[in-house]
Amino acid sequence: MSQVHKVIIIGSGPAGYTAALYTSRALLKPLLFAGYASGGQLMLTSDVENYPGYPEGIMGPEIMSDFRKQAEKFGTEIVDKDVSSVDLSSRPFKVTVEGEDFFSESIIISTGAEARWLGSENEDQYKGRGISTCATCDGAFFKDKEVIVIGGGDSAMEEATFLTRFASKVTIIHRRERLRASQIMSLRARENPKIDWKLNTSIKSWTGSDNILTGAVLTNTKDNTDSNLSFDGAFIAIGHQPITGFLENQLDVDNHGYILNKINTMTSVNGVFACGDVVDTRYRQAITAAGMGCMAAIDCERWLEEN
Ligand SMILES: Cc1cc2nc3c(=O)[nH]c(=O)nc-3n(C[C@H](O)[C@H](O)[C@H](O)COP(=O)(O)OP(=O)(O)OC[C@H]3O[C@@H](n4cnc5c(N)ncnc54)[C@H](O)[C@@H]3O)c2cc1C
Repeated sequence: MSQVHKVIIIGSGPAGYTAALYTSRALLKPLLFAGYASGGQLMLTSDVENYPGYPEGIMGPEIMSDFRKQAEKFGTEIVDKDVSSVDLSSRPFKVTVEGEDFFSESIIISTGAEARWLGSENEDQYKGRGISTCATCDGAFFKDKEVIVIGGGDSAMEEATFLTRFASKVTIIHRRERLRASQIMSLRARENPKIDWKLNTSIKSWTGSDNILTGAVLTNTKDNTDSNLSFDGAFIAIGHQPITGFLENQLDVDNHGYILNKINTMTSVNGVFACGDVVDTRYRQAITAAGMGCMAAIDCERWLEEN
């Protein structure tokens, strides 16, 4: 067996880099697999205005470059490759990357989540240019503007209600007649005078000018007719997908695949910790992911000491 590391961190968003910062300062010499899409979800956005310490805001890729530099400064070894599988059945744990095996006494998983997209025509062109998947992150950019929210579940109702704080009008678009949302959430949205509804409706394609979103072509799912709608922003709220496929069910996860932590940030396998959006079905923010990264690092450090 080759070298056994004290800790291997998988994932390089705010959670993974923060876990790396703490474990490297604790002299655990972490090895971090950052993935090919290193830097995580904030690499996909421009202005981040709600991360404390940046009163003027900061660009997503810039803050992630700062996270990385700070982790490297204290000795984190970073490899920009995807972990393909792990074996958690015996210790030391095995982490496989492109056919090469690495061994570690502990693992911190911080592989994040991906928002689900609709896959409508022109969607890629307008991602981050009018189409968002995070009202908490981007709602404030649409003050006194008209926006749409796509989805029929609780998160769509919550996002739509939240967006009425900023937007002059919010239209909820859902492909069915019935909402999946709970009664209380639907009622709250239905009673909001700023919220309008287009049920039995789907997005056929996105439209814009100068690469900025200005509207969409809608399809009535009952009679298949198309119509145009103009608006300034769109929020897709049809759920998130945690990135846990490489774990192959070796850890307890919930019905949607989110890792379940048993004691603080420790998972159902002793010595394996998880933090950030891969466990978080509620907050999904950079600051909460970073906070959990710190928690996982401290939990891991104490577990290593005790074991
Ligand atoms: C467009 C957009 C804008 C946003 N704006 C804001 C904002 O303004 N403010 C805010 O607080 N939050 C914002 N968020 C949310 C925020 O980005 C996330 O909550 C946060 O990034 C979660 O951090 P994380 O470390 O848990 O995971 P992520 O940031 O998702 O990072 C996970 C990392 O793990 C890597 N990975 C996955 N699988 C593997 C593997 N098998 N091997 C190795 N690496 C792997 C991925 O490549 C990725 O780098 C935004 C999100 C999006 C999508």
